[in-house]
Amino acid sequence: MKEAVFQITRSAYGKIKKYAEKTYPDEGCGVLLASSTGRIEDVYFANNTVSSGRALNHYRIDPLELYEIEKRAADKGYEIMGFFHSHPDCAPVPSKEDADNMIPRMLYIIMSVENGKPVKTKGYIKED
Ligand SMILES: [Zn+2]
Repeated sequence: MKEAVFQITRSAYGKIKKYAEKTYPDEGCGVLLASSTGRIEDVYFANNTVSSGRALNHYRIDPLELYEIEKRAADKGYEIMGFFHSHPDCAPVPSKEDADNMIPRMLYIIMSVENGKPVKTKGYIKED
């Protein structure tokens, strides 16, 4: 796994920040949608299906919801480029669970939120 540089539109980045604030102190999560140029154009947010209480440092996206998101994305000509989730009061570094669950070549964006405010964002990619 290595840190990755990524391109994202201002509006998509703004959406992520807002969502990370809204879901605090739980983890928020979503799916990153890119155009053929490889730039992240939009983000679809997903319910964190981890029960509250555990959502403090875990997230999971329901496979059926992911399937629906993939269909909506395809309708707009976007591809799923990766995933976003927030780290409430924790550095934007993948946990062991995060690293274990990474799909190779997908981009994982982690945004740390301290006291309800987004402070730092990093991207990671696991190579094959
Ligand atoms: Zn995490």
